[in-house]
Amino acid sequence: MSGELILVIDDSQEIVKYLAERLLPTLGYRTKYAEDGRAGLQLIRQDRPDLVMLDLNLPQMTGLDILRELAREGIETAVVLMTGYGSEKSAVEAFRLGVRDYLIKPFTVDEVVETINRSLAEKRLRQDRSHLSEELRLANTEMRRQLNEMTTLFGIGKTITALLSVDKVLERVLDAAVQLSNAEESIIWLLDPESNQLRPYAKKGLDEQDPHTLHLSVETSHVGQVIRTGRPLRQASFSGDGIKLKTGFLARAVLYVPLKLRGVVLGVLGVSNRSAPRAFSERDEFLMSALGDYAAIALENARVFQAADRALAAGMEELNTLIQITRAITASLDLGEVLRLAIKQVHKNWRIEASSLWLLNEGRQTLRVVANVGTPAGILHQLEVPVGRGFVGQVVESKKWLYTNDALNHPLHYNLIDKKTGFHTRSLLCVPLNYRDKVIGALQLVNKQDGEFDDRDVEKALAIATAVAIAVSNALLYKQAESRQQQLEALNAAKSTFVATVSHDLRAPLTSVSGLAGALEQIGPLNSQQKQFVSSITDSVQRMMDLVNGLLELAKVTTQIEKRREPCDLVAIVSEVTADLQGRALSKQITLTLKTPALLELVTGDSTQLRQAVSNLVDNAIKYSAAGGKVKITVWSQDKRALVRVQDWGTGIAAADLPFIFDEFYRVKDHDGRPVEGVGLGLALVRSVAEAHGGQVWVESKKGQGSTFTLQLPLATAIGEPAAADLPSPHEMVSLDSVTPKVPADGASLFRSAATPLPAAL
Ligand code: ADP
Repeated sequence: MSGELILVIDDSQEIVKYLAERLLPTLGYRTKYAEDGRAGLQLIRQDRPDLVMLDLNLPQMTGLDILRELAREGIETAVVLMTGYGSEKSAVEAFRLGVRDYLIKPFTVDEVVETINRSLAEKRLRQDRSHLSEELRLANTEMRRQLNEMTTLFGIGKTITALLSVDKVLERVLDAAVQLSNAEESIIWLLDPESNQLRPYAKKGLDEQDPHTLHLSVETSHVGQVIRTGRPLRQASFSGDGIKLKTGFLARAVLYVPLKLRGVVLGVLGVSNRSAPRAFSERDEFLMSALGDYAAIALENARVFQAADRALAAGMEELNTLIQITRAITASLDLGEVLRLAIKQVHKNWRIEASSLWLLNEGRQTLRVVANVGTPAGILHQLEVPVGRGFVGQVVESKKWLYTNDALNHPLHYNLIDKKTGFHTRSLLCVPLNYRDKVIGALQLVNKQDGEFDDRDVEKALAIATAVAIAVSNALLYKQAESRQQQLEALNAAKSTFVATVSHDLRAPLTSVSGLAGALEQIGPLNSQQKQFVSSITDSVQRMMDLVNGLLELAKVTTQIEKRREPCDLVAIVSEVTADLQGRALSKQITLTLKTPALLELVTGDSTQLRQAVSNLVDNAIKYSAAGGKVKITVWSQDKRALVRVQDWGTGIAAADLPFIFDEFYRVKDHDGRPVEGVGLGLALVRSVAEAHGGQVWVESKKGQGSTFTLQLPLATAIGEPAAADLPSPHEMVSLDSVTPKVPADGASLFRSAATPLPAAL
């Protein structure tokens, strides 16, 4: 069996011949023999027989010598000892030296067969084992190779399925196909479901520059066969020209696998060897099929992503357009402009035949067109549609949008409009103009020209309608405010007439009464009672004159009649006022001091009014100071503002009065509850002058301790800047002793705030 080599070493020619030339060959063994020990050992070294049948008693070298030598040289071989009776001692040593079995001469055929089989069985087993382990090793290597391949494939799959661009997916798949199948080129054909043709999408390898113009029919081509059957196709031809492909090329070997997703074949992945005579294996087919599966998933992912990406980009674009529209529309306060812009934007965003903007007349509960395109304006503008009637009326009533692509047969179709305008409404989209939970009108889009109205149109129209509603409401509010302003200006015009009237019709008779009263004394001698009457007439007339003059001055400032704006030297003005009032101060033994900076920028304004304001403050300070007191006037500038401070240590003002002293005709009552002398217009004038000049006036005072009035005016260089925006609030006001008091910010709350917490320094 199995042609194992058996070496027979025996000096008996008879045994050698019998075993090596007759019995063993018939049993299927190959044989060699030696008739002495030395030749035998040589043959063992040289041929490494599977079994040695060794005689113990040999010339030259005994069997034991051979065994010892083999042990010494480390040669392992199966040995059957052939021995006669009486050699037991030697046999024991032979077994120690590794002999497996023995035959006692003379032996039978069966004994020989049995002994040989026994001896070779172990060797055979050992050989089988090494054989198996070799196979195992090979299988292992193959498995590892496959594992590597699968890992690579998985890696490729993972990479390509993560790619989000179709082009990148295809490129990676083509690379991987060449790499995995060791092909010369790879190609992807995609099926165009509309034409049912295959288009080469991308290619890797030879002739990459080929124009991708060729289309393959699904019916007749190799590639088409893969599409039709959904199964791979593998061909090779090494004779003649090779495989003739529909593309006009010749190839030695091709392999096409379907790109299949959920049972649908999207295309074909192909690899080919055009020149190398190398066929594709079953393994290649398996790898390509796996790659094809990944590629199909990746393609689908990328397509879905790209579609989503496109939708997102479209969405972003739409959003951007809406932002621009909103900006454009809401930027204007002019109603006409807003409406014009709104309609313009509507036509920029839709291909429609006509559009109209309707506004609600709340009182009449009707709607009128305020802007339109595409329909005859004259007729449309005359229409007054009742709320609830027709599309527009319904939308306004329900506050809900609606659209129809079959307007004619819609129950809400309001024939009258079409009849009057001669327009044919086919499709229509109408959205309400909502502003703060109120419907102010509706926007209507008519006859979409590129398809039908759908929910996306509604979304877009609603967004535009929101912008339009805000803009229209703003413009309407502005219009209202503007008309109020106009009304106000008309109230002011009346005031100026009144002022002129007062000035002429009241002052003239008062002057003449005063003059005539003065003249009475000159006409003839008056008795004491008459003198007293004349004196009271003169006093009353003077008071009347004061009142009229006060009113006149105030009216001039508030109505801005005779408004003058000239550079004014505030230091000069305050100095003049101080000099003018020095006499009055002296008469009450009041020390009037003035502190001004060496240089002060000019203020812009009306010097007469400014003089009057400063004069009123200083006059009051003298008036409300006790005899022998002092009044201190300080002028300085701070943060582009000029400040005039008039400080006295006189009666002071009660906290309860402080909030009102700048009001017209307000006079503080004395301790008897009677108003103090005066008409209560002085401070009102100061405040009006301050405000007319973009400035402020405020007071800090404490009953019985004195008052400090501060008039603040912007310097000429600061005109146009926000008034005192960066200045501290009234609560941050510092003590009156401070050289440069801070200025409060808000004129309106100023007097009231200042009245409450008074600086401790007072
Ligand atoms: P009038 O012209 O009658 O003096 P004003 O408008 O100038 O009226 O002042 C209004 C009120 O403010 C006065 O009645 C007075 O009580 C109070 N007042 C004004 N200035 C001072 C001041 N320096 N000291 C105390 N009280 C003052």
